[in-house]
Amino acid sequence: MQTDNFQWIILEPYVQVACVNNDVLYYNTVNRKYIACHGNFRIAEITRQLIDPANGYVTKIGWEELKKNGVEEFIAGLQNDFMAGIQSPGLSLTKPFNIVPQPIVKQDKFALENHLREITFHVSATNWPGMAAFDRAYTQFPFPLYSAGPGEEFSLETIMSVIRQTTTLPFATFNFTGPGILDSPWYDSIGKMMADTPFRRKFHMPLSLLPPALPGKLKRNESLCIYVTFPAGQQEMDQMTALVKKYGKQKGLEFNFVVRSNAEVEESIGMISGLNTKHVYFKPHLDGHNTGFFREQVFIGEADIKASRPTRNQVFSRMTMNENDYGKLTIFPDGAVFANVNDAPLGNIHRESVAELVAKEVEGGTSWKRRRLGVEPCKNCLYQFLCPPISNYEISSKKFNFCHVCP
Ligand code: SF4
Repeated sequence: MQTDNFQWIILEPYVQVACVNNDVLYYNTVNRKYIACHGNFRIAEITRQLIDPANGYVTKIGWEELKKNGVEEFIAGLQNDFMAGIQSPGLSLTKPFNIVPQPIVKQDKFALENHLREITFHVSATNWPGMAAFDRAYTQFPFPLYSAGPGEEFSLETIMSVIRQTTTLPFATFNFTGPGILDSPWYDSIGKMMADTPFRRKFHMPLSLLPPALPGKLKRNESLCIYVTFPAGQQEMDQMTALVKKYGKQKGLEFNFVVRSNAEVEESIGMISGLNTKHVYFKPHLDGHNTGFFREQVFIGEADIKASRPTRNQVFSRMTMNENDYGKLTIFPDGAVFANVNDAPLGNIHRESVAELVAKEVEGGTSWKRRRLGVEPCKNCLYQFLCPPISNYEISSKKFNFCHVCP
């Protein structure tokens, strides 16, 4: 029997592949190199055969085919970057055994600790005067104001009940967002209840609405996250300087500059240079009038994507879940619970347990598992698993391509 008229091509199990029309991208998750080829029908066809689940990352190719259309050179490139091998049928006439990478998602709905890692309480729903421009900022990041249901406020009892239901978690972050948290009657109660836990507590507050009386010092595992909005001037600078003086020697103080334009970025940089603190972050705010700013400062380009070099775990998690959202719940003062505040509520904490709500999202929810593979135009893009997970900016604006690749 003639055994040398074809060769087996075997793809390594640590290689991830995207194939769209006649374009292909191979990504080695170990050495984090990639090879792309555009507009080559034969190479795309061979790629489709390799990634067909029935073929298990192995296909055969005739000598003649190998010599045509740049196929041999392409496969040599894959071999050079340890992504594929060629095997003679003299070694194995039957298809060689291979392992195909498959991400596994734990589905045990009762093991809360497998899934939950962060809870955000929006403690009050008051619409604050002068802050109307930021009333949708909470849909983009944990901004401490929102206007979904004015007048309501969390009861200490509800917060304590949620915390009691999560004590089996090995680690978790609890965010409390809203003005007046630190001088509310339950700040001390929460501190005492969580004193012996490894849980982090982050109190998110707008600088412009800080209460006059603040705690003398932050407790263990506590952070004070201050949001600076513009316009800001000397008064805000003085407030920040006083905060740094009071808490600057502790790790927990952080400033978040909510910026809507390049001018506000410049202003922030000027203010930061006068502050003696390291924990400073920019939170770009999409306000409906500043797409140009986002294009310039937030949208990613091909070079950023290629430079990102995600690990194998990151590639797998991007294929199965949204790393930004997974494991996070947000609770509003009326008890509504969200897996992402841009989606419909999962349920209500006054009627369902935390475990039941998490099980709902794990089993049938769409927020935690929102992946680029499932949205337009990303699902037709070669970079679908190299790109960062879908952001709240994209979800809130229903536009899943904050990039310069598929504008
Ligand atoms: S279309 Fe989607 S996957 Fe492609 S580069 Fe843009 S954001 Fe990334």
